[in-house]
Amino acid sequence: RESLIEEIKETIKTKNVELLHLQFVDIEGILKHVTVTAEQIDSVVDGKIMFDGSSITGFTPINQSDLYLQPDLTTFAVLPWTEEEGYSEGRFLCSVKKPDGSDFEGDPRNILKKTVERAKEKGYSISVGPELEFFLFETDEYGLPTKQTQDIGGYFEPSPKDNGEKVRLEIYRTLKAMGFTIEASHHEVAEGQHEINFKYADALGSADAATTYKWVVKTVAKQFGLHATFMPKPLGGANGSGMHTNISLFDDEKQENAFYDESDKLGLSKTAYQFIAGLIENVKDFVAVTNPLVNSYKRLVPGYEAPCYIAWSASNRSALIRIPATRGAGTRVEIRCPDPAANPYLAFAVVASAGLDGVEQELTAPASVDADIFHMSAEEIAERGIENLPTSLEEAINRFEEGEIGKKTFGEHAFGEYVALKRGEWDEFRTTVHDWEVAAYQGKF
Ligand code: GLN
Ligand code: MG
Ligand code: MG
Ligand code: MG
Repeated sequence: RESLIEEIKETIKTKNVELLHLQFVDIEGILKHVTVTAEQIDSVVDGKIMFDGSSITGFTPINQSDLYLQPDLTTFAVLPWTEEEGYSEGRFLCSVKKPDGSDFEGDPRNILKKTVERAKEKGYSISVGPELEFFLFETDEYGLPTKQTQDIGGYFEPSPKDNGEKVRLEIYRTLKAMGFTIEASHHEVAEGQHEINFKYADALGSADAATTYKWVVKTVAKQFGLHATFMPKPLGGANGSGMHTNISLFDDEKQENAFYDESDKLGLSKTAYQFIAGLIENVKDFVAVTNPLVNSYKRLVPGYEAPCYIAWSASNRSALIRIPATRGAGTRVEIRCPDPAANPYLAFAVVASAGLDGVEQELTAPASVDADIFHMSAEEIAERGIENLPTSLEEAINRFEEGEIGKKTFGEHAFGEYVALKRGEWDEFRTTVHDWEVAAYQGKF
């Protein structure tokens, strides 16, 4: 720790870091920060910087509002877009502490840490590799987002149809300068839709990375006069944006991927099958977290490469859970329902927690479904016992509230806050008269 602090101080000096942003996320995963001068680095690393928790969604009541920020020193980064001659800014991602020095239980980062510890107690480390898709939209004269996508490209199309190449290049350079290992970048299926992939890491590292990635994508897009959105389904009739989450357990004692077994016909271990079973058993109870918006459920419909049926497969992409072809150290499951509007800390926590439940309870995975479910008749789907994911935020939040996985993973405080927040969101949607209703009914009736 001491040498890390020295290193950070050295960087502050050589890179002329003048301001430090202390960052954390609220219960929705929205990034927040308070900015202090770099001279205060000693107070910063000692966790002395305080803020008002009652002004943060899902945090504390006004009478217990003093909270402290404890920076995770490994997340220090100089922000490439702030660098100029003799000046730059840096940031830390922080965990939130209470005045007595203990972890604040409503902090999503602390919630994920608890799940990581739960896995550790069983002898596992959790690896996560998320894939976040996003859209780039043109902005108007005030810099606000319009409904106009910024290009007409499709899947893997190069420029000139892919008009996002320059923005993606700049996002790539920025993330790389901040310490990311970028693996791939491409135009996605929908007009104006893109994806940039970074290397997998431990669950906390990946949730930090996803949070930083969203911020960087939005920041760089803005420099190009564009608006980047992680809204799950911004355009009707086109693909939405997913946050496919690749996840695996690493056996700490044997020092190997716990999902791989070469003697199995699919190359998967008993632990992997149990983990899959845990995901399938719990998914209806956790989609309110992985798919948190009213809009999320407009993505989970047939025909757009997003899942809507609860099934797993080693081959087909219409399934909720896919097993990518890689085996050995790279053996993993890919759960395809999460979308990038999810709070990555909470999403990875519920997904890991559900999988761990499967391992703990030694659940048996149902048979895999290798045919394209989107082309099956309703009878065949019913015959095979394939169920639907919740189709609305209301259904999802009901399941979340009644289920065990949310309470267990979030703890009482965040659980209550989350349910209240999402119920409020649903009620607002439910009681609003939408454009569609007026267009469909006003003339006709
Ligand atoms: N955009 C699709 C989704 O909503 C995924 C497309 C892909 O990456 N193959 O999940
Ligand atoms: Mg991908
Ligand atoms: Mg994709
Ligand atoms: Mg994928």
